[in-house]
Amino acid sequence: MVTTETISEYKYLRANKKFPSVWCAGCGAGIVMGAIIRAIDRLGISKDDVTVVSGIGCTARMPVYMDFNTLHTTHGRALAFATGIKLAKPGMKVIVVMGDGDALAIGGNHFIHTARRNMDLVAIVANNSVYGMTGGQFSPTTPTGDLGTTTPYGNIEQDIDTCKLAETAGATFVARTTAYHVFELERFILQALKHEGFSMIEVLSPCPTEYGRRNKLDTPVELIEHLRDITVPVGKEVPPGKFSRGILVNRKQPGYIRRYAELVDSVGGTWRY
Ligand code: SF4
Repeated sequence: MVTTETISEYKYLRANKKFPSVWCAGCGAGIVMGAIIRAIDRLGISKDDVTVVSGIGCTARMPVYMDFNTLHTTHGRALAFATGIKLAKPGMKVIVVMGDGDALAIGGNHFIHTARRNMDLVAIVANNSVYGMTGGQFSPTTPTGDLGTTTPYGNIEQDIDTCKLAETAGATFVARTTAYHVFELERFILQALKHEGFSMIEVLSPCPTEYGRRNKLDTPVELIEHLRDITVPVGKEVPPGKFSRGILVNRKQPGYIRRYAELVDSVGGTWRY
């Protein structure tokens, strides 16, 4: 019998209070959550030194299940709340989990400015190309031509490249992977947790219920294999319609917390850092 002691993830879950989860069978949210937990476990820090923040959506349910300091906030505002936590507790590892709509539509403004500030946060965007929780509306990352409940004849808009946006706005660690490449995801999260400044990891994640079944990817297996196949490792030529997978940006640049501490110091103030 599996006990809470034998599986390390159980140590980090509100196993007896919040399960079963709301996620559909085949959803990528649980895969992403598992990778976050294992990366934190590998980092070897206390649960009390981690805060997980989210906004609204299927991905945003994650902090409900995770036994860290957690904050489930309003739609699109998770990065703003997380910024406040980081400034109040600069020693805390603050991880923000968002879906594509939460991060890039409702929260697009916060996404840009948190990256621009090089705020010391780890942002994980689980991109499933759809608003899953509210019933399959198209999102800023729905590929052109794809179907959703609000695009029954195909999306006519250009989709956002999450990683290019993060890089352009100033993020100093940017990576992309998929829920299929779960060990790679775990490795990237661990690296992001050690990075100074703003880290953003985009995870192409399956939503079989609201995206896959409308877009001729009828089973969770077909969908996750599709996500695997639309990525190519960094350094290889990227054909149209596909994405680079790997670490795309990794720059050393003082994070906001260090710069703020230096500013306070320079004017004779005191601040815990
Ligand atoms: Fe996951 Fe989609 Fe179901 Fe939401 S609707 S729980 S994103 S599969």
